[in-house]
Amino acid sequence: MRRVYCDANATTPLLPEVMEAMRPYWMEDFGNASSIHLHGQKARKAVDHARGTLARFFNCREAEVVFNSGGTEGDNTAIFGLLRAGDHFITTSIEHSAVLQAADRMAEHGVEVRIVAPKKNGLIDPEEIRRAIRPETQPGDSRRTLISVMLANNETGVVQPVEEIGKIAAETGAFFHIDAVQGAGKVPFDVRRFGCHLCSISAHKMHGPKGVGAMYVRRGTPLSPLMVGGSHERRQRAGTQNVPGIVGLGKAAELAMESLDDGTMDRIARLRDRLEAGVLEIAGTKVNGAVAPRAANTTNIHFEHLEGEALVIALDLKGVAVSGGSACHSGSTEPSHVLMAMGLDKNAARASLRFSLLKTATDEDVDHVLRVVPEAVEHLRALAPEEKLAASL
Ligand code: PLP
Repeated sequence: MRRVYCDANATTPLLPEVMEAMRPYWMEDFGNASSIHLHGQKARKAVDHARGTLARFFNCREAEVVFNSGGTEGDNTAIFGLLRAGDHFITTSIEHSAVLQAADRMAEHGVEVRIVAPKKNGLIDPEEIRRAIRPETQPGDSRRTLISVMLANNETGVVQPVEEIGKIAAETGAFFHIDAVQGAGKVPFDVRRFGCHLCSISAHKMHGPKGVGAMYVRRGTPLSPLMVGGSHERRQRAGTQNVPGIVGLGKAAELAMESLDDGTMDRIARLRDRLEAGVLEIAGTKVNGAVAPRAANTTNIHFEHLEGEALVIALDLKGVAVSGGSACHSGSTEPSHVLMAMGLDKNAARASLRFSLLKTATDEDVDHVLRVVPEAVEHLRALAPEEKLAASL
């Protein structure tokens, strides 16, 4: 059976070039990048090379790149590393749980937390962020304000107006963190243009390995490290560097920059649009977040009178992998907090599926999806309610 993976926002496979770049660092060049001898020097050189690539990727200095274990660590570090009791944290109700649960933790520790809701189209209004900033906040205030907004939403792909939010942060003296885990590699990237102090990315969302990521930390940002111990990463992130992972992230970032320049992401946007148009021919379907700018590879579609989970299973049996929302919450019966924040009711949120294409997706992949989805929807809609329930178990 043909298998088509349409769940790139959950994770992506390594590209062959990434695998090849990492290969020597597992066995032959296994050294610890902190060691002085030849083995260490080779590992150190590889890490330095990746740091140079990431500095180009972020458009920052090499000394502003901190390697870590991925998006969750970056999000947690930005929030726990900057805020103390009495400070102020502003974020949005469509963030990943790595931000939202960190916000809950901060609230328990005396940080004033404000959560801004999106508009119905999934976009955050920068003026709502401005209004959430405490009026007494002035540049130079010793109490800190941190704003954290994602670049692209993992469920809908909606790209947020981070540049405008960056300007508001600069005007008010607030710190600004961007969770760019889903935007990285999919939308043009430049932390200077975004105007952020901190920015988190994760390799496994852009055809790199799992368990490794990087953070841009603007020079002078008073960020306390989350991990303490050794003096790795200029004392900003203790722990022996994951050399193969860092090399893989570097290669994935290099290929991601090429894909944004060579038309690959435009090709993916055209495939996504064709997939979306084909699925919308099915009666009772609608795109969530359609009227906002979106990452090229993502579409989130509401199928009236359907249980999303049952459709995920039915499609999987026919070789198409999609998801009902964030992979971190699959298996939970809770409807998507992102779609609910956009005004969908519980049933509509549960009846929505995310299709997210790999950058290696082909026309044949989309043809297969468009053959399989209408049949599966028709079949499920024809079932009696108790059969539907059984099909979803
Ligand atoms: N932020 C966003 C927007 C994500 O989509 C994810 C992963 O799904 C994360 C953070 C967490 O990243 P990681 O899996 O690297 O910990």
